[in-house]
Amino acid sequence: MKRSGIVEADVCVVGAGIVGLAHALEARRLGLEVVVLERDARAVGASVRNFGHCFISAMADGEALDYALLARRRWLELGGQAGLEVHQGGSLVVARHEDELELLEGVARDERRGARLIGAGEVSRLAPIPAAGLRGALHATLDVRVDPRQAVVRLAALFEQDPGARILWGVNVHGAGPGRIEADRLVVRAPIAVICPGPGYPTLPADLRPERHGLTLCRLQMLRVNAPGARQYLPALLTGLSLLRYPAFTAQAGFERVRARIEAEHPELVAAGIHLIVTQLPGGDLIVGDTHDYGDPPAPFACERLDRLVLAEASRLLGTEALHVRERWQGIYPYAPGDPFMVTAPYPGVRVVEVVSGVGMTTAMGLAPRVLAELLKAKAGATAPASPVAAPPPSVAARVDCGS
Ligand SMILES: Cc1cc2nc3c(=O)[nH]c(=O)nc-3n(C[C@H](O)[C@H](O)[C@H](O)COP(=O)(O)OP(=O)(O)OC[C@H]3O[C@@H](n4cnc5c(N)ncnc54)[C@H](O)[C@@H]3O)c2cc1C
Repeated sequence: MKRSGIVEADVCVVGAGIVGLAHALEARRLGLEVVVLERDARAVGASVRNFGHCFISAMADGEALDYALLARRRWLELGGQAGLEVHQGGSLVVARHEDELELLEGVARDERRGARLIGAGEVSRLAPIPAAGLRGALHATLDVRVDPRQAVVRLAALFEQDPGARILWGVNVHGAGPGRIEADRLVVRAPIAVICPGPGYPTLPADLRPERHGLTLCRLQMLRVNAPGARQYLPALLTGLSLLRYPAFTAQAGFERVRARIEAEHPELVAAGIHLIVTQLPGGDLIVGDTHDYGDPPAPFACERLDRLVLAEASRLLGTEALHVRERWQGIYPYAPGDPFMVTAPYPGVRVVEVVSGVGMTTAMGLAPRVLAELLKAKAGATAPASPVAAPPPSVAARVDCGS
């Protein structure tokens, strides 16, 4: 594959994580010729280090939930084409307190989220976890799960089978302007470019680097453990700690009360940004996490004490002390407070797209159609015959209106 000289395409995508691939696949769906430039020899970023959990039911009202619902359809469709299993086991968010149950009830009332409240007995029928101490749970039936170690690999392979699509691996992009993307020995000429560097945004040149107050990196500690007794856990498992982290929960009336109680009862967990998610890999092992530590550059050292806290929470939920750690790793995603979708326009026809919250697997495939539609609209406007009122060119770092 050509890695030097000039390459022509309709769309150039930078980054072969889930956000980049979502845009690349969407552009092919629209019949556009696409080239993806990825600096590594294979994807090793946030998209392979996560839980693979599409937590649709927990998204904020509005564009996040809309994107998540569309992304769910795309996962099911593309998963089928790519030979990637998309598990429809949903999520179980268990409640150990009455106030947590009340909060979950509010989420269950919104029919679009496909979630219902269940009693402790039913929890044990859906997943082999002890019912003792549980008041009930939210069973979010629309939530889906993929194997994160396979998902982008399979999507990239599917994409590369398409004659109108190319991925150039090992190509580091260091510049862009209207109609061109520059890498070490390569220039891509494309009227549309979508740059999706994920946590790699600080390495972009200054004119492309996205800026927003509070934009930083979030580092998470993750573990892979054996499944106790080789048991099967179809739904993703979460606890009341997750109620502090996702907008569908934080928007509920009783949230402040729940937060105050959890902060008082578990100050150490809250301080480390620990909440528990457990998902099962195809071979049976469990992915268990996570912690949240913010800062750019991210701290290089993983803290053993925090891993132990996460493991203790997992043991409590799964009802066993016998969890053997097989792997530990850290994952990093870009984070900024507020809107989780950050789309900047450094040049006409060029967008830098960042999901600045831990929801890229859930939402990226729903976000991509909006970003591309806006770019194509702007391109059509730019090439249309001159009209009496010319549309202003996109300004540097202008926020794209993806919401309406
Ligand atoms: C531990 C962890 C758990 C998570 N759990 C979940 C979850 O369960 N559900 C969920 O919805 N979300 C989850 N997330 C968030 C989700 O993983 C991210 O939102 C998503 O993967 C971001 O995708 P991305 O493509 O932007 O980034 P990445 O996957 O990091 O991809 C970016 C790519 O761009 C490439 N790149 C960067 N700069 C350049 C350059 N200059 N030239 C060429 N290539 C470049 C990089 O090499 C990389 O391959 C989690 C994140 C982490 C870290």
